[in-house]
Amino acid sequence: GFYPSSPTTKLFIDGKFIESKTTEWIDIHNPATNEVVSRVPKATASEMEAAVASCKKAFWNWSETSILSRQQIFLRYQQLIKENLKEISKLITFEQGKTLADAEGDVFRGLQVVEHACSVTSLILGETMPSITKDMDTYTYRLPLGVCAGIAPFNFPAMIPLWMFPMAMVCGNTFLMKPSERVPGALMFLAKLFQDAGAPDGTLNIIHGQHEAVNFICDHPDIRAISFVGSNQAGEYIYERGSRNGKRVQANMGAKNHGVVMPDANKENTLNQLVGAAFGAAGQRCMALSTAILVGEAQKWLPELVERAKNLRVNAGDQPGADLGPLISPQARERVCSLIEKGVKEGASLLLDGRNVKVKGYENGNFVGPTILAKVKPNMTCYKEEIFGPVLVVLEADTLDEAIEMVNNNPYGNGTAIFTTNGATARKYSHLVDVGQVGVNVPIPVPLPMFSFTGSRASFRGDTNFYGKQGVQFYTQLKTIISQWKEEDATIAKPAVVMPTMGN
Ligand code: NAD
Repeated sequence: GFYPSSPTTKLFIDGKFIESKTTEWIDIHNPATNEVVSRVPKATASEMEAAVASCKKAFWNWSETSILSRQQIFLRYQQLIKENLKEISKLITFEQGKTLADAEGDVFRGLQVVEHACSVTSLILGETMPSITKDMDTYTYRLPLGVCAGIAPFNFPAMIPLWMFPMAMVCGNTFLMKPSERVPGALMFLAKLFQDAGAPDGTLNIIHGQHEAVNFICDHPDIRAISFVGSNQAGEYIYERGSRNGKRVQANMGAKNHGVVMPDANKENTLNQLVGAAFGAAGQRCMALSTAILVGEAQKWLPELVERAKNLRVNAGDQPGADLGPLISPQARERVCSLIEKGVKEGASLLLDGRNVKVKGYENGNFVGPTILAKVKPNMTCYKEEIFGPVLVVLEADTLDEAIEMVNNNPYGNGTAIFTTNGATARKYSHLVDVGQVGVNVPIPVPLPMFSFTGSRASFRGDTNFYGKQGVQFYTQLKTIISQWKEEDATIAKPAVVMPTMGN
């Protein structure tokens, strides 16, 4: 009995889905209707303590469990996620609003990290060096840290928690998750499957809440590392508070991703990719291509870009043919609309206005249709702030160099893309642009989990990135052993060449 089949979201403590004893609850809404679909508790202090205590208690056995057994649990887990992918996706659409196809992508990209976690046996190898002096060798072990914690955002209810606890746990850590209070359901489902895959009680615990839960995680002395994904406001705060308390923190944060369109680009492809990457998921992706820089003659493509954006269908995420669903909340909708308004006031031209979109049967949903602001200048609010909605802001540049300068002057460094058919242009751009993830004719260059998610500058705080080799480094520490076994101490025994006769 956990959400969504129950009216309340449970806590997951010590292997049990339990009802919180809190008096403070937060409503969860279906963004397409704004109907309340469940309630999520703000866990009490003693419930949060119990969750960490459970992680702590489970750590010794879990970290001493053969790595092959942990790998087997994750092999079973990836299979269970595959079998339940459609169900989890439906739940995501229900609580988060994105289209079903997009929700499936959300689960799928998380699943890939779980699959990757299964290769831990090669990823976690230490290093060795023999004979550093006579009879002396050095070797290192990569060992888990202890209890680690994750704090997740609303926009990828499955993928982002799956960036966190599988990598941490396969390395031998136990884990405390705090999902976004707006979309906790997918994680509860994933926790149930994880238990079914054989994860021992207490290895994964889940608490719910907002600021108090976050502060609890930043301050608790038994938590060694924090993985955060979300806004800069929360991420910078968590990075500072957690670091001050001696924890490792990795924080993936906000973005303003530029797509640079060169006049030699494949027009058809580029316009489709721009439109898909700007408005897909209603722009609520940290890798959404929310900013276009049209270089030179490519500026003439603007009317066609607008035409394509107009053709996208706005609808509830579970409706057939929906290209984009609603925003997460009425507040998010209001914020997006006011940023559009500000853009117009500050001199941008509104070529497509999605603010008054009507969705039949879903009049109360948080819908905004595709919106395009052109003639945008770098000093405008709609350029400086992350909009996180289906709004594409369009700037112009005369040359590639000018475009590069613009991208590098923007404080964020999450993702970017260049559209061109010229290899030299692409290479120059990828080389000079100071952004962590670059797509060449690829609008949303999110790395597969054998690489790492490498946002930079204002989009990231910490030293070690999520998943891939970096993820293993984040969740482990090295122990170095220098040992001397003197040759003269070797036991010299005569080999027994006679057939052993037991009992002699
Ligand atoms: P958010 O920062 O509001 O919430 C993220 C988490 O932090 C939630 O669990 C929330 O409970 C907690 N939180 C919120 N405000 C807080 C505060 N003031 N102090 C302490 N904790 C707080 O983010 P969101 O709205 O859920 O997600 C959208 C943001 O996440 C966007 O900025 C987006 O770019 C970013 N994001 C980044 C990546 C990435 O990999 N770089 C991926 C997805 C989302």
